[in-house]
Amino acid sequence: MTRTSEISGFYKLPPEERVRRVKEFANLTDDEASLLGSTGSLGLQTADRMIENVIGAIPVPLGIATNFLINGKDYLIPMAIEEPSVVAAASNAAKMARSTGGFKTSTTGSVMIGQIQVVGIADPNAARFDLLSQKDLILKKANEQDPMLVSLGGGARDLRARVIDTPRGRMIIAELLVDCKDAMGANAVNTMAEAVAPLVEGLTGGRVLLRIISNLATERLMRAKAIFSTDALGGAEVVDAILDAYAFAASDIYRASTHNKGIMNGVTAVVLATGNDTRAIEAGAHTYAARSGRYQPLTCWEKNGDGNLVGTLEMPLAVGLVGGATATHPIARISVKILGVKSALELGEIICAVGLAQNLAALRALATEGIQRGHMNLHARNVAIAAGAEGDLIDRVAAKMVEERRVRMDRAKEILQQLKGT
Ligand code: NAD
Repeated sequence: MTRTSEISGFYKLPPEERVRRVKEFANLTDDEASLLGSTGSLGLQTADRMIENVIGAIPVPLGIATNFLINGKDYLIPMAIEEPSVVAAASNAAKMARSTGGFKTSTTGSVMIGQIQVVGIADPNAARFDLLSQKDLILKKANEQDPMLVSLGGGARDLRARVIDTPRGRMIIAELLVDCKDAMGANAVNTMAEAVAPLVEGLTGGRVLLRIISNLATERLMRAKAIFSTDALGGAEVVDAILDAYAFAASDIYRASTHNKGIMNGVTAVVLATGNDTRAIEAGAHTYAARSGRYQPLTCWEKNGDGNLVGTLEMPLAVGLVGGATATHPIARISVKILGVKSALELGEIICAVGLAQNLAALRALATEGIQRGHMNLHARNVAIAAGAEGDLIDRVAAKMVEERRVRMDRAKEILQQLKGT
């Protein structure tokens, strides 16, 4: 039989039948096929309603970061992530911040930007004025699309427009500013942008092409600040080493990339645990980091008058509590319950605090003992498992590799052989 990936009507099949087809295509064993179907807490039918062509679910560990004190309130933070050390590092940094009052956060609000691209206008500057003169009409049309959001105090708030030069000529980019309240808002904003498009065409005399939310959520910034005392960090030289590490990131994009990746370890883990859109947050974060035209660290580190380290993080964080998977994924709902958050803004601010904590932990480890020691203990367990260790052999193989400072698959297999032999 010829193997083809062109399977007509794959989407119409029930998940079990899709598994059977994939099994056949990829020569999966019975065990592998049945493992695909056992989706645990998500439920195959729920997963099937979330995306297309579902055949299973891939479980990711869910850990709890402890010690977080944010605006005087204690939080346990659910983090969904496959990478070792992240949860421990966040908890550790949060503990250091406690003695100096924990994290203080704030936000600019929950306004998202919907973009409407208008092309084919001879006099775009004049057309822009014509458009803006009818702002109330456009906002009214936008708000008619979402009476629910409006009844909750949200909705389209403002209209702005820019004329941009592009390789295909000048265009007007109209922007709807929509307060999305507890929703991330992509569906809400996209619906509004599509609905006002005919009006925009009529007023400008141009042709509307794209109508879509921007992930550069500059009207939905979260801010977190924390002080880390010299004592908690391990001395004045550690503070200086962290400042040197930060200066490196601020002056070199190769380092800035990894610096921000460390922040996103914490941010994305909470975004995922709460069923929010990780790609939307990542896109917004990295674009925000490059807003000056040069990619920069998202955090800022300084020494205050007492010689203590002060960290701040400001970044767009468009997360929601309604809509998307936040409401449909059962574990996401439980994560939100564990957090005890009452609004999407509270969630966003917490995530910002986690990002700051994560950055501090990484910088401290890198600027002192190096990141590998802490990382390797957990990594060694994964290597041991991959080498075939089971039960108590996992820890024994891992411990031996860490002791020898040789955390490698070939060594894991050797140690495993030796231990099995004895
Ligand atoms: P949604 O449309 O499912 O929910 C939002 C709606 O819920 C609002 O329009 C409102 O009518 C209602 N609502 C009920 N209670 C509310 C409250 N307290 N606050 C606000 N609204 C309330 O979801 P959404 O948030 O508009 O869109 C999020 C989804 O869009 C995510 O799944 C995301 O992945 C996806 N998406 C993202 C992009 C992008 O980021 N570029 C593009 C397209 C789609």
